[in-house]
Amino acid sequence: MREKIHALASQIHEETVGWRRHLHQNPELSFQEYETSAFVKAQLDRFGIPYTPMADTGLVAHIQGEQLSDKVVALRADMDALPITEVAGREYGSTKAGVMHACGHDVHTASLLGTAHILQSLKADFGGTVKLIFQPGEERLPGGASLMIKAGALQNPVPQAVIGQHVMPLIPAGKVGFRAGKYMASTDELYVTVKGRGGHGAQPQQNIDPVVITAHIITALQQVVSRVADPKMPSVLSFGKVIADGATNVIPDSVYLEGTFRTFDEKWRKEAHARMVKMATGIADSMGGSCDFEVRSGYPFLVNDEKLTAEIRGYAEDFLGRENVVDLDLWLAAEDFAYYSQVADACFYRLGTGNESKGITSAVHTPTFDIDESALALSTGLMAYVTLRRLGVS
Ligand SMILES: [Zn+2]
Ligand SMILES: [Zn+2]
Repeated sequence: MREKIHALASQIHEETVGWRRHLHQNPELSFQEYETSAFVKAQLDRFGIPYTPMADTGLVAHIQGEQLSDKVVALRADMDALPITEVAGREYGSTKAGVMHACGHDVHTASLLGTAHILQSLKADFGGTVKLIFQPGEERLPGGASLMIKAGALQNPVPQAVIGQHVMPLIPAGKVGFRAGKYMASTDELYVTVKGRGGHGAQPQQNIDPVVITAHIITALQQVVSRVADPKMPSVLSFGKVIADGATNVIPDSVYLEGTFRTFDEKWRKEAHARMVKMATGIADSMGGSCDFEVRSGYPFLVNDEKLTAEIRGYAEDFLGRENVVDLDLWLAAEDFAYYSQVADACFYRLGTGNESKGITSAVHTPTFDIDESALALSTGLMAYVTLRRLGVS
């Protein structure tokens, strides 16, 4: 089976590259993936794979193996692009100014189409159901994954495993990365307004300076991650936006901040929110000002089921060779695949797409991001192979 799938993957490699380039040239922002969705449906129609539209631009397709089995595996791809303008002069660059597939979701979508093509051609060789989840809006709250789950993507039938892959330029093309257990962080957005009373910079005694209050708050809140958090529990608190719109001699009325809080435990996450609000409002109050502290909850943390991940990793080592499967570190970025991992046994692995010798090293979410397209031969075949092994094909 391994050789058969390697052969099928290289047979459709050129076509998969074509899909990826088409999607890359025609990116759509989160929850606006109408053309992308139509493109996916057109390919599925061509392969004879039925599907159900879901969550507006999303869809779930089913491939039914011809042998008898009630096993179900779900495979997930995200379809949205980012509000970034791609560097000019690329052969298959984005045709839309201000929109770019800078997170590789074009790669995930094209790969899953390739995997679908392979699995559909092997229907006689397996039993059980393969669900193909093409979801919208990974890059924006509330996250397309949460909407797909609400719409029933994991029902009728219920999968025993949900598998997803994501590009990673740090890993060379030809390799993949796995991590069992907690892998990516929960992410919450913080919106804070510190209020005081502005006035002339020469007369602080008549004002309540929100800039100084804010300085205390920013410093004190670091105590939450350095003194209150369990040292064994990674937590990050960063404020990337601080606006005090006064002047050299003008103290403003208020200061506005935006930040992010990330961690790996739901109980601690809620406790940290409460601590931060209490600390910030307490400091502002004690200094004569006030503070509105809003926490907008984002994605939960992503946990790769230990047993399932060990199993899938084993299949990947079998398919690619042990030397081409690497360990991943904890990563405090967020990913809405986490929603699937909170309700089902899930495995999210990384597809190496970098190539230093070709100069393909840019990180995701940058205007120069690109992939070594040789990774597409591997991504389609690997996902098909792990799925068939999971369904009991040897
Ligand atoms: Zn992204
Ligand atoms: Zn992404």
